[in-house]
Amino acid sequence: MVDAAQGPSDEPSGRFGLRLALWYAAVFVITSLAIVLLTYRLLASSLEERDRQIVISTLGEYSQRYAAGGLRSLAQAVEIDQRSGRQERLFVRVVRGGSETVFFSMPPAWSDFDVNRLQASGDLWEQVLSESGEARLEVATAALADGTLLQVGKSSENREGLLARFRTVLAIVGMVIVAVGLAGGAIVTRSTLQPIRRLISVVRDIIRTGKTDARVPVRHERDAIDELSALVNEMLDRITTLIRGMGDALDNVAHDLKTPMTRLRGVAERALQSDDPNTQREALVTCLDESERILAMLDTLMDISEAETGTMRLDPRQVDVETVVQEVIDLYEETAEDKHVELTTEITPGVVVVADPRRLRQVLANLVDNAVKYTPSGGRVAVRAGRDGADVVIDVTDTGIGIAAHDLPRIWERLYRGDQSRAERGLGLGLSLVRAIVLAHRGTVHATADPGRGSTFTVRLPAERQSSQSASITRM
Ligand code: ADP
Repeated sequence: MVDAAQGPSDEPSGRFGLRLALWYAAVFVITSLAIVLLTYRLLASSLEERDRQIVISTLGEYSQRYAAGGLRSLAQAVEIDQRSGRQERLFVRVVRGGSETVFFSMPPAWSDFDVNRLQASGDLWEQVLSESGEARLEVATAALADGTLLQVGKSSENREGLLARFRTVLAIVGMVIVAVGLAGGAIVTRSTLQPIRRLISVVRDIIRTGKTDARVPVRHERDAIDELSALVNEMLDRITTLIRGMGDALDNVAHDLKTPMTRLRGVAERALQSDDPNTQREALVTCLDESERILAMLDTLMDISEAETGTMRLDPRQVDVETVVQEVIDLYEETAEDKHVELTTEITPGVVVVADPRRLRQVLANLVDNAVKYTPSGGRVAVRAGRDGADVVIDVTDTGIGIAAHDLPRIWERLYRGDQSRAERGLGLGLSLVRAIVLAHRGTVHATADPGRGSTFTVRLPAERQSSQSASITRM
């Protein structure tokens, strides 16, 4: 088992880490680049929009000049604008009769635009590419009142230059984003996986050594990993307790079986050595008694298992509580009397509960048996039963030795016996069976105790049947 458990290496968590880092980096880089690209698109379209607005407003202004003062006034306005430097220089052309250019102004730097390719067809927007193909001249045309066409245009050169610089900056930013994404992914993955790796190493150690005393360090950061670590530790605590409990239980079973088995062997040996038929008969009777005891113990262990795993076959019917209690009291009356323990009942008449009568009797018998057993001479045991809302509540109270606080949570465990009870007969199975049966009936059972003064065990069962099967009252 030890060798088999050593199999997996760090590889799976390493691969998982790499995947996590790449995912982180991919999400980070894609999101950041999408934001950068969007910003670029917005900038490009708003620069284009701005250029077009300049062209349109200048076109409107010059049209008004032409309408007010003719071509001369328009030419003056263009010249004043160019000289004053009030705005960037623009392309301005006036075409008459469809082809005769009567006014033309163009910044010298734009000479590689072949403006003759403009159709001057009257469409609002037209554009020509520069010879190098890097810039566009975007031209707006307005038809004036006398049929003359006025054209104003602007080169996209400045804008493209600005965008080209921006693209260079974006490329650098993009590389930084990729680098940050990868580094961030690695850091985030490392810090996320570190506690998981510690968890894996603890679990692997436990599997390898079979020792459950290792614990995962909890960082107290109140995150999911801390919660998982705390849960794993809690689970390990429970497993340790269970393993210890099972070990103790096994010891107890072995010990409890050894005594009757030794006695059986002794009796059988003696019978074999004797020729007296009476001695042999007596030995057989003793052997039968002992085997009954062993069988009873094994039966109880199996009953508990069945009830706990939900495979116990129950035969629920409406049971008169007073009758069951009286049956059990009748069983223990003599023992109590011999021990000078007063056994009393206080039962609300007519209370009925849906339960398997044989199992209910077993529950009460175990509780009354314990109460009488752990109550010294002169004490009292009282059984009370009645309705409480939708439940039937049965209390078994005694004035016995009580239960120490450290024993109280453990008395329900299989084969657990309180420190003070070792002197009494018993297997430590009674209460486990009680609890398993009550839970199988969808009820609850709990104990309160005052060491040295007594204990109370309270069984609460739903009075009504959970399913719709018909039922008949059984007087047992
Ligand atoms: P046992 O065979 O030891 O009685 P149980 O499962 O019935 O086993 O009870 C478990 C332990 O609970 C007992 O060993 C005893 O310490 C404690 N206990 C149960 N009932 C009582 C009681 N009425 N008074 C005091 N201790 C009790």
